[in-house]
This record gives sequence, structure tokens and C-alpha cells, in this order.
Amino acid sequence: MDLRIKHPCPFCGEREHLTIQEGGAIQPLIINGATTTDESGCEVVEEVDGVWCEACWAAAPLTVWLREIPPERLAVLRDFDPPANATVLA
Ligand SMILES: [Zn+2]
Repeated sequence: MDLRIKHPCPFCGEREHLTIQEGGAIQPLIINGATTTDESGCEVVEEVDGVWCEACWAAAPLTVWLREIPPERLAVLRDFDPPANATVLA
């Protein structure tokens, strides 16, 4: 396994068949402390290096795999509002 990966697969425990794919994962683009949307209201994402488990097909951005997501990034992503047009199920 690539030395940058460091951890076995958290889902199936695979240690060997893990690869890093350049640009192989996406995550929301954060600018000035907020996620961004394009003209059509879709969230803008960026391509980042991803880890892929060939055994169970789990995939995640490398920072997520390593649990090294910057705290300021997590703070932004956790502070989301429900969509205005969401239907609340009773
Ligand atoms: Zn796996």
C-alpha cells in the first residue's frame, strides 16, 4: 500500500489493495469560510486525491481517510442549514 495511506481500510480491514488516485475524490469547495454554489444552485466541488480500497470499493478523500480534515473545514461543513424547500416528514 502507498505509504501516504497509513491506515487499513476502515470498512473491511484491507491493508494491501489500497491505492491513491490523483483527483480521484471530490469535496465541497470552501471559500471565505463557506461552501459555494454556481449559478444554478449546485454546490461547487473540487477534485482532490482520494484513497480507493480495491477490496470493498470504499473511497474517500485522502484527508478524510487519514482523519486529518482541518477543524475549520469541518466547522464550516457541520454548520449547514436544511434546504429551504425541504419537506419535513412528520
Ligand atoms: Zn475496504
